[in-house]
Amino acid sequence: MDNKAMKGVIKMTIKTKFDLNEDVYVIKRVKVDTSYKCNICEGKGLIYFKGEKLECPKCEGVGIINSPNNYMYEWQVRSTKIYRVNPEVTKDCQIDRYSVLCSYGYTTDEDYIYKIEEDAIIECQKMNKIEKQNRE
Ligand SMILES: [Zn+2]
Repeated sequence: MDNKAMKGVIKMTIKTKFDLNEDVYVIKRVKVDTSYKCNICEGKGLIYFKGEKLECPKCEGVGIINSPNNYMYEWQVRSTKIYRVNPEVTKDCQIDRYSVLCSYGYTTDEDYIYKIEEDAIIECQKMNKIEKQNRE
């Protein structure tokens, strides 16, 4: 680059907590299907009793047990990499947005990214406890 092109260019170095391609763990709130295969009829919807074929009394012939809403929210840990740093600078000049590489590829706050898996798991358990309290 010649001097003319360099004019007006401000080079800024921003220190980030995470580096590009760094292996990290993110915690994410996901919708979980809570329905499960009926344990009485084993998903068939029918039971045999004294030689007769009857509709399963537990699942009413559906073969699947649904909880009231059929789903709940749960925090899960995902292993991933930092693939982009989004320079979204906060008031106190901190970078707090990162893009993490997941199968679903999404952007998250620094608060949801961990270097150590155990830390992410502990945080997940904490969040799930709150999630459970909110459900009750
Ligand atoms: Zn059943």
